[in-house]
Amino acid sequence: MNKDANIYIAGHKGMVGSALVRLLKKQEYTNVITRTSAELDLRNQSQVAAFFTQEQPEYVFMAAAKVGGIEANNIYRADFLYDNLQIQNNVIHQSYLHKVKKLLFLASSCIYPKLAPQPIKEEYLLTGVLEPTNEPYAIAKIAGVKLCENYNRQYGCNFISVMPTNLYGPNDNYDLKTSHVLPALLRKFHEAKMNKKDRVEVWGTGKPKREFLHVDDLAAACVHLMKTYEGNISVNVGTGKDITIKELAETIKSIVGYDGTIHLNTDKPDGTPRKVLDVALLHSLGWHHTIELNEGITKVYNDKFLN
Ligand code: GDP
Repeated sequence: MNKDANIYIAGHKGMVGSALVRLLKKQEYTNVITRTSAELDLRNQSQVAAFFTQEQPEYVFMAAAKVGGIEANNIYRADFLYDNLQIQNNVIHQSYLHKVKKLLFLASSCIYPKLAPQPIKEEYLLTGVLEPTNEPYAIAKIAGVKLCENYNRQYGCNFISVMPTNLYGPNDNYDLKTSHVLPALLRKFHEAKMNKKDRVEVWGTGKPKREFLHVDDLAAACVHLMKTYEGNISVNVGTGKDITIKELAETIKSIVGYDGTIHLNTDKPDGTPRKVLDVALLHSLGWHHTIELNEGITKVYNDKFLN
């Protein structure tokens, strides 16, 4: 990937896309192409075709998607399936038609079977039933992974995909109805501290286990894989370490400096009991995470709530 290559970041306003833009600019890539959703509706086939004809990207980071936490996925089920299928079909197919040199598709660790053995190896994809709360999103992402694989097989494309674990970092979603657990808890504990509330509600039993990766680490892994990896295995990207939601809540409580209590609301769903990735393949490809959880959450908290 030459420094003056045409590189399209689909979804550059999102948490992953914006981290990719920051990193590529820092690494002095000079032709990073972006479009807001108002300028280019990725669900619209003819708009996407016209964009590829005009810009002729050589590399594509496919980070555009409709995303959300457990509740949003469960409520907006049709939108999560339809929008994501449309967006990725258009970008991947136009990348094939316009002879993009390499495309990287962002999938997600939530597309593995609900009860996959832990840690989750890449080969467990499509070996079991999905978690019902985010099945529509997962079905779309599985289709995206399979599109990449089969454009490679049928047309000799060079499309790779990655499976990031749960992410956090700058430009995260802090809307409590649609956000993931980590930003939600940062906001809840911060506001409880400011408003001197005596307890914070944490959803579910607190027992599910999750792995968290700082999005700057994910961006670094994506650029590394874009430069060095070719193949049909969708590579897991994570830390390989997980903690319970209760432990996450305790960690955030201490970083925020809140001294009230944690109330577990078991009327809310737990989702998948455990989700930690096996990152042996990623390590063998020469990449390892650099930002530990405590350090990453502290930085996000300071930047978002204290500055
Ligand atoms: P998931 O990883 O796809 O299940 O998505 P989430 O990040 O939304 O949820 C992870 C876990 O955290 C689930 O067990 C949630 O019930 C739990 N959780 C606890 N408190 C919250 C909260 O305030 N918001 C969200 N989104 N999840 C929470």
